[in-house]
Amino acid sequence: MKYISTRGNISPVGFKDAVMMGLATDGGLLLPEHFPAVDTATLASWRQLPYRELAFQVISRFVDDIPAGDLKKLIDKSYDSFAHPEITPVVAKNGVHILELFHGPTLAFKDVALQLLGNLFEYLLKETGRKMNIVGATSGDTGSAAIYGARGKENINIFILHPYGKTSPIQARQMTTVLDANVFNIAVEGTFDDCQNIVKELFNDLPFKEQYALGAVNSINWARVLAQVVYYFYAWFRVADKKETPVTFAVPTGNFGDIFAGYVAKRMGLPIAKLLLATNENNILTRFINEGDYSKGSVVQTVSPSMDIQVASNFERYLYYLFGEDPARVRDCFSHFAATGRMTFTAEEMNKVRAEFASRSVNEAETLETIAAFHRETGYLLDPHTAVGVKAALEYTQDGTAVCLATAHPAKFGEAVEKATGNPPSLPASLHGIEKLPTRCEIMPADRAAIRNYVAEKAL
Ligand SMILES: *Cc1c(COP(=O)(O)O)cnc(C)c1O
Repeated sequence: MKYISTRGNISPVGFKDAVMMGLATDGGLLLPEHFPAVDTATLASWRQLPYRELAFQVISRFVDDIPAGDLKKLIDKSYDSFAHPEITPVVAKNGVHILELFHGPTLAFKDVALQLLGNLFEYLLKETGRKMNIVGATSGDTGSAAIYGARGKENINIFILHPYGKTSPIQARQMTTVLDANVFNIAVEGTFDDCQNIVKELFNDLPFKEQYALGAVNSINWARVLAQVVYYFYAWFRVADKKETPVTFAVPTGNFGDIFAGYVAKRMGLPIAKLLLATNENNILTRFINEGDYSKGSVVQTVSPSMDIQVASNFERYLYYLFGEDPARVRDCFSHFAATGRMTFTAEEMNKVRAEFASRSVNEAETLETIAAFHRETGYLLDPHTAVGVKAALEYTQDGTAVCLATAHPAKFGEAVEKATGNPPSLPASLHGIEKLPTRCEIMPADRAAIRNYVAEKAL
């Protein structure tokens, strides 16, 4: 399988190069040259596979430059760190199925992809004798999942900047209690934007980036999307009967990575009825789907902070297909957007969008109400991100066939859960005693030069 860029200006690369490249060198995003087709007979033969084996079947169709035995080992190892034997179990509650994606080491769905990405990086670096210094900024979930994906890995150091005192206490602890020698937490005296700007500046400093082999783990890496395709298949087998029953998936959305993985599964032949894109008050994607209006607003803070995003970094991948795989149209669209803060679409394009997607925006009051009602009626606790998806799913269909992706464990967002139900959620075993564990973290001013020097000093 070869990979091409949405902007059309790179020569096709293999999977291994696509993983190491992250962002395409022409500024676009990488996509497979075609979608491997999964026919009905193959689909039927996958029905009983345990998660790891299904993951190998799905992922290996996109990878032809890693020996099958090695790929299988990397996948198996990635899901050994999950606390549930099914990895991503599905539970049926109150007219909706919940696909629990939070059984990984940091209790959010990002573990599903970042455990695999960490192992892929280690494998590919060893093969080429290279080293990598991962640098990233986080407002919470991504940073801890990235740290757990990279901890203890050979030839990798990881530096994660978070805004000092501005993540949830549990999120900060999840990061700073990781004491592996290759993990460097930097608590920046500033905002998440300060952290992100400093990281961007380090990556834009090309000589620095080269010298220290900087690597990124953000959600535009193709391997992250690919790992997430697997659980759409896994969930479909749990809820659809033996026929080709189409299933609707509700997806709490921020950067459009998770829902794009669903689009890939659909293009491979998985019978998906609709991809229901659920947003909080940051609803640019809902306005796009329902009104054809893609215009940038400013970010609003909500109780589902991992979805507080305006411009979704993976959206470009979908636009490439919407525009009939025409990179020139993608380039025009983004230059128009850079100039005007707006994208425009034809009526025909919007029909195409609505054939694949539906969307709902769920506000804070509705989110808290959904957590409370769901808990009252079923005893099941939703985290605020999942509640956005569940509310959207229940509004869209009440017939019990929809699957909502549960993107985080409620204990990660205890404050919102307590506000909704009156009680704090109980902590899962992995968080017991976390407040007493020793921590390691460098507190630094929001000063680019100081952080640059720190990275240079500690880099491999
Ligand atoms: C990252 C995240 C999301 C958003 O996922 P995208 O792939 O960015 O759309 C939703 N919920 C939680 C808990 C997350 O951590």
